[in-house]
Amino acid sequence: MTKKKSTAMTASSDALGAKPERAVPPSKKIAAAPGHDVVNTKKRSPKVTRAPFEIAGQRVTAGKRMRIELPIGNLMSGTPVALPLIVVHGKKDGPVVWLSAAIHGDEICGVEIIRQVLDAISAPALAGTVIAAPVVNVHGFNTNDRYLPDGRDLNRSFPGSPRGSLASRIAYLFMKEIVKRSDVGIDLHTGADLRTNLPQIRCDVDHGPTLELADIFGAPIVIDARLRDGSLRQATVEAGKIMLLFEGGEASRFDPAAIATGTAGVLRTLNHLGVTDFDAPIGQRSLYSRSTSWSRASNSGIVHLDAHLGELVSAKQQLATVYDPFGKVLGKIKSKYDGIVIGHTQAPLVNRGDAISHVARIMSEAPNASWGVPGAVDTEER
Ligand SMILES: [Zn+2]
Repeated sequence: MTKKKSTAMTASSDALGAKPERAVPPSKKIAAAPGHDVVNTKKRSPKVTRAPFEIAGQRVTAGKRMRIELPIGNLMSGTPVALPLIVVHGKKDGPVVWLSAAIHGDEICGVEIIRQVLDAISAPALAGTVIAAPVVNVHGFNTNDRYLPDGRDLNRSFPGSPRGSLASRIAYLFMKEIVKRSDVGIDLHTGADLRTNLPQIRCDVDHGPTLELADIFGAPIVIDARLRDGSLRQATVEAGKIMLLFEGGEASRFDPAAIATGTAGVLRTLNHLGVTDFDAPIGQRSLYSRSTSWSRASNSGIVHLDAHLGELVSAKQQLATVYDPFGKVLGKIKSKYDGIVIGHTQAPLVNRGDAISHVARIMSEAPNASWGVPGAVDTEER
């Protein structure tokens, strides 16, 4: 893989006060006196040490990884709660990249993706810094809940406030300690409860640097998703940073295909940014889409899927059939257009109006990024 380093991605490491390289004086040759060996008392070459990474009042030394707890208050029982992080601070300068998962507490595939990525990287070999936040919604993760205890969606609470709701406070902390210290972020999601997603990147494909990373990630499809109000992605863009949103698999389950695609995609992205230097195989060429649509059940009953994740379908092709308990066909669910199945329900029982299959219309040509500023607002990021 060819490595391209984006100049836009080194800002934070500079801001952290990395020392400039000192000029090395030409070494002086010392002649040995006859019968004596040369003893050079100043043999150590001047080493340039990267400045430590400071976060939450802690200092991570260059070439080390450190577990850090960001305090977020107490449980009602009085037990302290913290957002757990691992910071891997490379020996060499480079971009700061954060990886986050379980912002929706029951979306756990990303937790496993981050575990595998942390297993594959080592601080001494890194050029840059990785901040891993595998469990952002700590409360939801512990109770297998998408939301926080008060029912708020953390991914609608950004950029947050230090005096707002619990969700708003966690969002504020995440922005302050992680996003503002990073150059690039990858936020890992799955489908919501009882829905599964084809591994996909959601981003603004008209923003050149974002499109470049989405392309490298190598998921089966990249969907041009507009920004949702209160989402981490919106707050990240407003903070002038780049973020990819990965979706794959379903809530409360490990989906091996989504985990494999996500792990390989994150590692390829780190490689492309110059943070790692693996022999990473090039990912698949992604399809691109600007429009997606759910087909809904016209009757209540038992649903059987006729088209599965990743399947190419044509307009009016049958995606699913709804039966009564005796096998009588009650309704057929069809695709609205030619496209690819990027998500579907996992529920065997459905009500009239339930979303059954999600189809993306494929762009005939890959997008040509206009390098603009990302902006518009989306309709569905659930
Ligand atoms: Zn999610």
